[in-house]
Amino acid sequence: MIKNREREETTTVSETDRVARVAMLSVHTSPLDSPGTGDAGGLNVYVVETARRLAARGTDVEIFTRATDGALPETVRMGEGILVHHIPAGPYEGLGKDDLPGQLCAFTAGVMRTAAGRPEGWYDVVHSHYWLSGQVGWLTADRWNVPLVHTMHTMARVKNAQLAEGDSAEPPGREIGEAQVVEAASVLVANTDDEADQLVRLYDADPAKVRVVPPGVDLGVFTPGDQAEARQTVGLPQDALVVLFVGRIQPLKAPDVLIKATAELVRREPSLRSRLVVGVLGGPSGSGLERPEALQELVAELGLGDLVRFVPPVSRAQLAHWYRAADLVAVPSHNESFGLVAMESLASGTPVVAAAVGGLPVAVGDGGLLLEGHDPVRWADAIGGLLADPERRATLARAGVRHAAAFGWDRTVDLLDEVYRQARADLRGVGDVALLPRAPVPVMVSP
Ligand code: UDP
Repeated sequence: MIKNREREETTTVSETDRVARVAMLSVHTSPLDSPGTGDAGGLNVYVVETARRLAARGTDVEIFTRATDGALPETVRMGEGILVHHIPAGPYEGLGKDDLPGQLCAFTAGVMRTAAGRPEGWYDVVHSHYWLSGQVGWLTADRWNVPLVHTMHTMARVKNAQLAEGDSAEPPGREIGEAQVVEAASVLVANTDDEADQLVRLYDADPAKVRVVPPGVDLGVFTPGDQAEARQTVGLPQDALVVLFVGRIQPLKAPDVLIKATAELVRREPSLRSRLVVGVLGGPSGSGLERPEALQELVAELGLGDLVRFVPPVSRAQLAHWYRAADLVAVPSHNESFGLVAMESLASGTPVVAAAVGGLPVAVGDGGLLLEGHDPVRWADAIGGLLADPERRATLARAGVRHAAAFGWDRTVDLLDEVYRQARADLRGVGDVALLPRAPVPVMVSP
């Protein structure tokens, strides 16, 4: 296990050593996209939430993402102190994530070109998200002589070790690319101790450069609330038992396990059929996109069409109503580097039944049940048991709200800010740190 203390003890960073400007790289998905389908999910939420809070503290953030539409302005102001640069690299449409490695040179050139108009020393830190961005960060951080802070979000070697049925293995090129980024980064930000261990064990990362920074939950949006009101808002019957799945529909997230467990539940107790509602909220993504209808077909095959509801992706405010409306949220994923959905559900006062994989044990804490494996019979036991026991659900819900309260995004940004300052101090030598001039940003900004 890697302790943050290992680094804290080496140097101390002074309070005045503020980071003025961060270049954030998110090549394959834009912070302006709505999460819940396609390539937009937890990474987008992470980038938006951390950028907003960094900017509120006076650190300007410039996010570079690939232009996916010719009509997009070159630069958009996402909020006070946050710019999103759309970098042309390859055709706007029809380019999948798997095609993006071939566009990294074009993307890097575009980032360099955007930054060329800036004064020397404009950025203090490059923070790249996902390995594709890490490849771009490697060169840009080197060129600008600033530290590269990298967050993996997911790792090919972890995913390939727990491959879901119907999922395809990540190619060796990604593993090699990830290993290069691990080597090149000044700091690797891991979501959990478990992820930190994986970086060291599977990618040979230097333990001294791994920092654990847990992601967060928006405690202003995801709050406990009245279930009856929430059900009215989202259009669910008041007397139903509601189990909810939230996330992008792909084999990795294993919504099929919940569907098969539902079939087992109604087989055991046919009277449940008239009371149970299973919500599947989210759009297809990744290998789920190859056959987006596969889950619907499974539901039809198992004769569950009357109790499973497919709900297209919703806004975050609307999502909070869905969590509150549910009696429990199921997270059967084969892997999750953290599992924001689990944390959001707990913060909204709804217990979780989750697979004991990746970051989920940390995200769930004592606010739910953790299950080993993906046997639908076991999942039916756990879900059925909890649905039949409102007192247990209430106890878990109370514990879950307390657990989530410790995971606000402000805490994440406190730690990230420290990581940035430490990384810069390590690069320049402590005591050699000067605040950079804050000239106006010389770019075209759309309203
Ligand atoms: N999400 C959303 N609207 C939806 C479905 C999902 O905003 O309709 C968000 C959800 O709130 C969560 C994120 O998408 O913050 C998914 O993150 P998670 O870590 O659970 O999974 P990932 O997408 O990273 O695999």
